Amino acid sequence: LISVRDIRKNFGKVEALKGVSLDVAEGEKVVVIGPSGSGKSVLIRCINALERPDSGDIVVDGMDLMARKVDTRKLANEVAMVFQGYNLYPHKTVLENVTFAPEKVLKVPKAQAEEAAVAYLERVGLSSKLDKYPDQLSGGQQQRVAIARALNMHPKIMLLDEPTSALDPEMVNEVLDVIKSLAETNMTIVMVTHEMGLARDAADRVVFMENGLVVDQGTPGYIFGETDNARIRAFLSKIL
Ligand code: ATP
Ligand code: MG
Repeated sequence: LISVRDIRKNFGKVEALKGVSLDVAEGEKVVVIGPSGSGKSVLIRCINALERPDSGDIVVDGMDLMARKVDTRKLANEVAMVFQGYNLYPHKTVLENVTFAPEKVLKVPKAQAEEAAVAYLERVGLSSKLDKYPDQLSGGQQQRVAIARALNMHPKIMLLDEPTSALDPEMVNEVLDVIKSLAETNMTIVMVTHEMGLARDAADRVVFMENGLVVDQGTPGYIFGETDNARIRAFLSKIL
């Protein structure tokens, strides 16, 4: 479903990606780990066409993201992204936040977008907050709204970039639970996280990046257990 071939991306002198390849099958859950600055976010942003590689190929569900003109509306139909921090519209209610993009981008009729929004907000445990504004919610609740908003775009692919890292510790678990429940669906997920428990539980495959390269990848059992890759062992020993 996602094919990334030998992509390179420089920012001035910084070589953020030095030839990264990654294939993700439909329904697969891939977790990307690695030290700060290794290129994880840049990779995720390339898959969503927020960033354009200098060279290489990216094809997402048949769409060539290196083509001169990318149909961003079609891409938004297929790929949703949840960032660190929640980027909710502060002057819209929870329900409006979750309804806005499907209405405006996908042209879903209002009533239908709202019905789906209510269902997704229930799924993330926020049925009682529909008319609240973001600043009336905790960080964990806001991040769950952001996830409901992404889900209401009915994406084939969900990209998550450290969805829990801006949260106070006591709010991390409620968001992890929502993400774990997503991992039980047939959605295709590519996620960057420092939560190794989540990687272990949710990933079909864990990809380790360092210095703009994919250094190693495999099942959680392999990455967290069998691999004798010294860099991975050192990284894990620091964060576990
Ligand atoms: P972290 O775990 O800290 O989020 P990361 O693996 O996500 O790290 P990236 O954000 O992908 O790291 O960044 C990779 C490299 O590219 C870093 O050296 C970063 O400073 C650089 N970089 C990323 N985005 C930009 C940008 N827009 N302009 C300039 N440099 C950038
Ligand atoms: Mg990052």
